[in-house]
Amino acid sequence: MILAERLVKTYGTGESIVRALKEVDLVIDQGEMVSIVGPSGCGKTTLLQVLSGIEEPDSGIVTINGFSVYEVKDRERSAFRLQHTGFVFQAFHLIPVLSALENVALPLIGLGVSSRKANVQARQALEQVGLGQKLNAFPSELSGGQNQRVAIARAIVTRPSVIWADEPTGALDTDTSHQIVGLLRHINRTMGTTIVVVTHDAAVASECDRIIRMENGRIISGAQRVTL
Ligand code: ADP
Ligand code: MG
Repeated sequence: MILAERLVKTYGTGESIVRALKEVDLVIDQGEMVSIVGPSGCGKTTLLQVLSGIEEPDSGIVTINGFSVYEVKDRERSAFRLQHTGFVFQAFHLIPVLSALENVALPLIGLGVSSRKANVQARQALEQVGLGQKLNAFPSELSGGQNQRVAIARAIVTRPSVIWADEPTGALDTDTSHQIVGLLRHINRTMGTTIVVVTHDAAVASECDRIIRMENGRIISGAQRVTL
């Protein structure tokens, strides 16, 4: 479960201060796939970065499966991120000089897994996203949709409990977007991974279990699962 309480995040000071998060509370249950939507600049990326341990809030608490993300040293937080979470970005963030297999193996290498074992698991992850035939391709040799699949394989290769995705379909056409969301949905259902997707795309949001709406640094609806 992901729990956020009274998150406040500001950028800058004085006249140029931006209040990106204004006392945000949020609960996401393990195994949910939720979307975060709202106008550009309302704080979606900031919220994702604060939840995921990338950007420390000014105040407030984030816990992920009982682990209090900002009550530990930076090192421990980084280790937690690498071990238990995966990231997917709009621009893929793959390393251009590495093959698909090498890109996907990287998080495992970071965790100290032997390169032999990492390659086996990376191949399995690429097969899971339908790219078993493209193990040795470089990012420049793959389409946008294929590169996003590689990025998703990289996110799942460590079997994380949470995947954070910031506009994962923002650079893709409608059909490809649909396939990528379908893939995330499939991972959510088969692996039980909690998935948090920031999106502009109403079609992407509608595929999720829940829509969290933000406006001007606040969540205006969907902060908790409604149980009947
Ligand atoms: P969204 O992802 O919803 O478009 P962001 O979370 O990126 O919104 O931004 C929220 C607000 O915080 C915006 O006003 C943005 O300009 C500001 N902001 C985001 N990151 C920074 C930063 N690193 N420095 C200064 N202002 C920032
Ligand atoms: Mg953003």
